[in-house]
Amino acid sequence: MHDDERVVDELEALKAILMDELTVKTDERGIAIGLETEVFPWTALDTQQQFVRVMLDIELPPGYPDKPPRVCLRNPRGLDDSVLDTIDQQIREKCEEYLGQPVIFEIIEVVKENLTASNVPCCQCCICLYGFREGDHFTKTHCYHYFHSHCLAGHLTASERIFREEQDKLPAWQQTEKFQAVCPVCRAPIKYDVTELSTAPPPIDVTEAPRSFEPSEELRVLQQQMAALFLHQKRRGGIIQEENHLLLLTDEPATAGGNR
Ligand SMILES: [Zn+2]
Ligand SMILES: [Zn+2]
Repeated sequence: MHDDERVVDELEALKAILMDELTVKTDERGIAIGLETEVFPWTALDTQQQFVRVMLDIELPPGYPDKPPRVCLRNPRGLDDSVLDTIDQQIREKCEEYLGQPVIFEIIEVVKENLTASNVPCCQCCICLYGFREGDHFTKTHCYHYFHSHCLAGHLTASERIFREEQDKLPAWQQTEKFQAVCPVCRAPIKYDVTELSTAPPPIDVTEAPRSFEPSEELRVLQQQMAALFLHQKRRGGIIQEENHLLLLTDEPATAGGNR
């Protein structure tokens, strides 16, 4: 299989972990010269939550692991070039760091970690109610909830401010110093560096949303109807308030038999 015991052991271990997700390429003498595996984000086996993937193609040159392997990322899905560049860079660093020792498992980990961070979900951010677009910076909490990093920063800042305001209202003996941030969806405790989150740009959909509100034709017609209804009710002696259905008497109770 291979004349270097380190490589034999490494391939055995990889086969045991990846099983049929791993393809080992051998030469005509049966010596392993490379391997291929498709990498997905960590999603606790929930394949529905895997939105990105990439094929990892590793060539083992003669002399590996004393020589670095040649690594190629193929058929990326849902990943932008900057992520692929980051992965490439981190793989090169790992290969340097691990020169002389098996490094393939480390490489797979680097790819998996980056994919997990770039795994763009198709749900909405429950803070701004916009979805996630490619290029959006988002955060996946330990409880597997997704928020735009920008939105989460705003939410955490606001929750801490409200917490402090509520604390200030309490007598000193009831006050607690410690603020615990919680997930806006499931209230699981979360911990983030707000300063770092705040460096993320606002969601793309928010930036692209129209700046000013323009009522549609339909809305204009409705406004006219409502204005006419308002005058009608006023003339009849009372205004019906939308929210509590109360009849509000107007100043000039009009003709008798008004609809009170
Ligand atoms: Zn958002
Ligand atoms: Zn949560």
